[in-house]
Amino acid sequence: MPATNLSYLDPARPEPWSSFLEQIDRVAPHLGGLSHWIETLKRPKRVLIVDVPIVRDDGTVAHYEGYRVQHNLSRGPGKGGVRFHPDVSLNEVMALAGWMTVKNAALGLPFGGAKGGVRIDPRALSRAELERVTRRYTSEIGLVIGPDKDIPAPDVGSDQQIMAWMMDTYSVNVGHTASGVVTGKPVALGGSLGRHEATGRGVFIAAREAGKRSAVPIPGSRVAVQGFGNVGSIAARIFAEHGAVIVALQDAEATLFNPAGINVAEAIAYSATQGSLAGFPGAESIGNEEFWAVESEYVVPAALEGQLTARRAAGLRTRIVVEGANGPTLPAADDILRERGILVVPDVLANAGGVTVSYFEWVQDFSSFFWSEDEINARLESIMIKAFAAIWQMADERGLSLRTAAFIIACQRVLAAREQRGLYP
Ligand code: GLU
Repeated sequence: MPATNLSYLDPARPEPWSSFLEQIDRVAPHLGGLSHWIETLKRPKRVLIVDVPIVRDDGTVAHYEGYRVQHNLSRGPGKGGVRFHPDVSLNEVMALAGWMTVKNAALGLPFGGAKGGVRIDPRALSRAELERVTRRYTSEIGLVIGPDKDIPAPDVGSDQQIMAWMMDTYSVNVGHTASGVVTGKPVALGGSLGRHEATGRGVFIAAREAGKRSAVPIPGSRVAVQGFGNVGSIAARIFAEHGAVIVALQDAEATLFNPAGINVAEAIAYSATQGSLAGFPGAESIGNEEFWAVESEYVVPAALEGQLTARRAAGLRTRIVVEGANGPTLPAADDILRERGILVVPDVLANAGGVTVSYFEWVQDFSSFFWSEDEINARLESIMIKAFAAIWQMADERGLSLRTAAFIIACQRVLAAREQRGLYP
């Protein structure tokens, strides 16, 4: 693989696409005749790199690099978020798109896998600049997105407002309101109730299902959460509402520890006003690396990929890792955790609540008929529980990790669709 950016030079944090390829290689021997099609998964179907120029508030022109990758479209339109982050790279977006293919198939959602990103620090731009970046990026990728082609959604660094601008820009360009072009929109614009909370809620459901089968009940359990954005903060809140004790929280600027439990509602309010958890009074501040050694029953990495390295896995003192982020555990760390008897609930299952409710949003937009929040949460529960049970059963029967089982189920679905559709010409 060519050394396209610096993270490749750091052997402790290999490029995410390499991790994805390794995960695919691990599953190939379990696919029987369908492994004939395995190359399909090892190369993205379509990659678009776009230049995103904007006029900055000071009158200068800045150029940013944007991407939209459609990894696989065999089972339906592309689906996956848009990441705004200074470290976004093509390699990362390719991996994230690949994980969306697997996630959507593992949950049985009628989508392929896609992902997008812009290499910017959204916090360093004014709101007006962010709007210009979003609109220009949307217009540039307008060639490949659409309600029945590829449907973006929020991811790290993007939110409801950005989805509103994306929907508006696409709609202006096509000449009519196309609410189904993105999900994760504000409810007033055809967004779905429950979407904002869905990823965190799904993380909790996955943890609870894993805990039930591993005799690690949620009430009284100690939980450490890395990442305090949409996923980490809501997962922490729901864990706490069910009687768990949040012993550690980490965001980009701080690591907090309190063995008696951090008040999550207060931490959310603090972070909303201060911009980070740094200085939060309800816990002790500890070193970044110490986060990985906090004693707990559940660890929820809900930040970026590649966080759980082999070294951190060797020192982890927990029972269950629930991956709120995409790709947080490196393949070498996966092996160490398995040897150590620490259960990993993989990203493609654990954080699938978001895209599941995105699917509901897309269906609601098509029919212009909207469901109640109770209906949405009940349907989310039933899809997550069913997917979890099937993955658990396969892992149990064949003595595999949950990740390998999830990948087998997903890749079988994708490659069976590939085979049935046949090759053109
Ligand atoms: N960005 C989220 C994910 O990684 C949600 C994607 C979506 O809703 O399409 O799953």
